[in-house]
Amino acid sequence: MSEQKRLILMSCCAPCSCGAIKQLKDGEIANIEDFIVMFFNPNIFPETEYQKRLSEQIKYCEKLGVKYVIGDYNHDDWREQVKGLESEPERGARCSKCFAYRFCYAAKYAKEHGFNAIASVFGVSRHKDQNQVDISAKESCGEIIYLPIKWNENLRSQINHESDFYRQKYCGCEFSIRK
Ligand code: SF4
Repeated sequence: MSEQKRLILMSCCAPCSCGAIKQLKDGEIANIEDFIVMFFNPNIFPETEYQKRLSEQIKYCEKLGVKYVIGDYNHDDWREQVKGLESEPERGARCSKCFAYRFCYAAKYAKEHGFNAIASVFGVSRHKDQNQVDISAKESCGEIIYLPIKWNENLRSQINHESDFYRQKYCGCEFSIRK
């Protein structure tokens, strides 16, 4: 029998994570004993935008009765991490750094709080490269197991269709705001 996982699901927003959270809540993913949603997104700019996405995330988790944790919001620190990569395109080196930074934070939290696995929805948007997310995660999670779960895209679309989520028009950082 596979080892049971205590999982941290990293989320960037409710529209991207709704399907994954529902699947986990409904026990559709094998060998997950327990899970928590982590919202650690210091990449999001400006802070008003961050608060909107956070509020939608909390509303959805509470609607489903799912546990969540909110990471620190320090955008200046995030800017330091991606220094020199500001003009990289989306899917480029800045995004790898951004993913790695967030996965490292989650791995540290996992170690400190008895979780042994991490998954994310960072790659579900059509603007993202799932392979890039997976590579960043594997390089950053250390002894915590990274699970590259393929989420049910139809379920995510269906929940989005039925919900009135606030929907942002860009990934998160100031460099991803489309003109
Ligand atoms: S575009 Fe998105 S993933 Fe890339 S650096 Fe900005 S916030 Fe991070």
